[in-house]
Amino acid sequence: MKLICIGRNYTEHIAELENQKPEDPVIFLKPDTSILLKKQPFFIPDFSNEVHHEVEVLVKIKKIGKYIQPKFAHKYYDEIGLGIDFTARDLQHKLKEKGLPWEKAKGFDGAAVIGEKWINKSSFSDINNLNFSLLKNEKTVQKGNTALMLWKIDELIAYISQFFSLKIGDIIFTGTPAGVGKVATNDQLTGYLEENKMFSIKIK
Ligand code: ZN
Repeated sequence: MKLICIGRNYTEHIAELENQKPEDPVIFLKPDTSILLKKQPFFIPDFSNEVHHEVEVLVKIKKIGKYIQPKFAHKYYDEIGLGIDFTARDLQHKLKEKGLPWEKAKGFDGAAVIGEKWINKSSFSDINNLNFSLLKNEKTVQKGNTALMLWKIDELIAYISQFFSLKIGDIIFTGTPAGVGKVATNDQLTGYLEENKMFSIKIK
């Protein structure tokens, strides 16, 4: 399985990192070894002094597909989740400055939090109007709504599948809203999708 991540999908987050608004979705991959093991804390890696949390809505692919049309994209997933795209921001800045790929800053071990809970899309009235948030030590630090995505879930699936065949179990990280920030030892991060607690992890 692969983790396909979308960058710069929320206008306010593009502004906070002073990035340009892209003409097409920005795509990168994380390896399966980046998935944080269940019930484990996240360990800040030695090579970074600035690991940021990025809370993101996740979509789990249930059917193989390639060149999927937007109007059929909904047939390729049922389950919606929530996770964190941990990013070694200091390392990412260095790599970006040199025009190099981001993988080391985004794909290291533990950098992908996938909440254990998945919710069937049929239990939501509109997946393009979902509230989600991240709490750090019980204080809200990120707040988003999927209505604010530049590219909606079905558009992302159509776009991604032009380049990468989608396989059963692949997970799409749909991008982070504003409010990304540094994590520190002993922080507790808890994610909510609407009223549902999706994950809670400790930083070490
Ligand atoms: Zn992200």
